This record gives sequence, structure tokens and C-alpha cells, in this order.
Amino acid sequence: MAKTYDPNNVFARILRGEIPCKKVLETEHALAFHDINPQAPTHILVIPKGAYVDMDDFSARATEAEIAGLFRAVGEVARGAGAAEPGYRILSNCGEDANQEVPHLHIHVFAGRRLGPMIT
Ligand code: 5GP
Repeated sequence: MAKTYDPNNVFARILRGEIPCKKVLETEHALAFHDINPQAPTHILVIPKGAYVDMDDFSARATEAEIAGLFRAVGEVARGAGAAEPGYRILSNCGEDANQEVPHLHIHVFAGRRLGPMIT
């Protein structure tokens, strides 16, 4: 069953320009901006412009162009942040068990320090 998208979630409001953000990149299909509460020296969020709740929803409904657009933006952000070397981590929380806080798909890009083992 499709998840219901809340058009007033904070990232929808950022996309509409109702809330400011520190923009890193904007393309036809994606927007990237700095996380308000960074967990690493580089902590950027990359979101699709379309209304998708999470990775479940996005992978089921997004067009090929939207999927390519989001993942190209993630790669560009990581490279642009100087994060490609010596490394970075991308992560997306999906749903309650993963503690997803904002119900608009977002991919975290962490870099700039030794990140340690995977978070569980
Ligand atoms: P989640 O737990 O859903 O994977 O991550 C949500 C992220 O969104 C958190 O890292 C949080 O700091 C960030 N965040 C929440 N509200 C805002 C906001 O208004 N602006 C920005 N830039 N980031 C936000």
C-alpha cells in the first residue's frame, strides 16, 4: 500500500522556499543542503524534488530520470565536498525502526572524519 505523503513536512517546506536552507546543489530532480544538526564535519542531505516518503516509496514510484537524478546528485555532492577521498558514508533511514524523523526521502552524506563502524 502506498504511504501517505505529508506535504507540510519540513523538507517539503524547504523545497517550497518556506524554510531557509544552506544549499549545496540544486538540479532538475534533487536538492542538497547542509544538515541543521551535523553529525560529522561534512553532513549534507540530498533529497528528491518529488513527493516521496522514503526509499520504499521512491524505489516503487519514481521515474528512471528521478532515480538517476537523485543518485547523480549524491555522487556530485560527495565529490564536491572533497569527500570522495579518503572516503564518505551515505545512509537513508526508512521508517520507524530506523528512526526516520522527516517523512520525505533524504540521503545523508557524512564525511570529514574517521566514521568508525556502521551504526546499528
Ligand atoms: P532522519 O532521522 O529522518 O534520517 O534525519 C533527519 C535529518 O534532518 C536530521 O539529521 C536533522 O538534523 C535534519 N533536519 C531536521 N530538520 C531540519 C531543518 O529544518 N533543516 C535542515 N537543514 N535539516 C533538518
